[in-house]
Amino acid sequence: MPEGLIVKALSGYYYVQDDAGGEPVQCRGRGIFKKRGESPLVGDRVIYTETENGEGAVERILPRSSELIRPPVANADLAVLVFSVVRPEMSFVLLDKFLVHVEHARMDALIVLTKMDRIPDGEEGERIRRTVDEATNLYNAIGYRVLPTSAHEGEGLDTLRAQLAGHINMLAGQSGVGKSSLVNALVPGLKLETNEISDKLGRGKHTTRHVELVAVPGGGYMADTPGFSQLDFAELGIDEIGSCFREFRELASSCKFRGCTHTHEPHCAVILALAQGQVAQSRYDNYVAFMTEWKETKRRY
Ligand code: GDP
Ligand code: ZN
Repeated sequence: MPEGLIVKALSGYYYVQDDAGGEPVQCRGRGIFKKRGESPLVGDRVIYTETENGEGAVERILPRSSELIRPPVANADLAVLVFSVVRPEMSFVLLDKFLVHVEHARMDALIVLTKMDRIPDGEEGERIRRTVDEATNLYNAIGYRVLPTSAHEGEGLDTLRAQLAGHINMLAGQSGVGKSSLVNALVPGLKLETNEISDKLGRGKHTTRHVELVAVPGGGYMADTPGFSQLDFAELGIDEIGSCFREFRELASSCKFRGCTHTHEPHCAVILALAQGQVAQSRYDNYVAFMTEWKETKRRY
């Protein structure tokens, strides 16, 4: 039986892209999914059979590596975190917050800096370049790639395309950072859907969004809806925040106490690494701030 990727789900149909290429096959889901409370998602790798009139039926969903709710996508494995170097200027707090959610979703992250062509001359430009270097050194040391780009002048776009190949990619970033511009430069014909309308409706009122995967020339797929638009900590346990800081994860096994929160405990490996300069102060400060924010979020609900 053929295997393929669900690239679109609409009105009870799943559009399955065969690995061999060609047009996606329009498939129904088998009744068995409903009985099991299982539902195929865009991004699922599935086994399907051909029925009649060129249509098909999804028979089986292969195991998922990740599953996002907003937008509903399975197996997205690379989050492309977009930050602009000017207007709006990048924020390490926001970046760390995105990274917590990306780690929680069991995805890898690629940090893309945009609008490199807009760095002005003079002192202001010097300051921005220092921030770019600082971000690059800090996040590379933790194991994240940082890629400076310009959608307008083409800087970094070939490298970016190569990084997207072979992955199901999801963009994330504040509005105005240049996500649509990047997508226009990389995936001609893809119009990025934004979450503005659903954001206005507020929490819990999101309709199941229509999301589609679009093939990136050069390989890989890109979701047409950005992810990680809700950055509160309502869906995380308090003990999960620390493990979503990649560099804390390994250190935590050397903390004296199990369940160490890395805040006040004696013989904490994270606090020791911080004192020795192996953990960045900004990462640690953001961790502590997120723990506080988590407690406030829980109080509210
Ligand atoms: P989005 O809201 O994240 O999708 O951001 P847009 O792609 O709509 O970009 C916001 C603004 O930044 C627009 O006015 C773009 O023309 C501008 N912009 C985006 N990328 C670049 C870039 O690489 N260089 C420059 N100079 N401007 C850019
Ligand atoms: Zn600790």
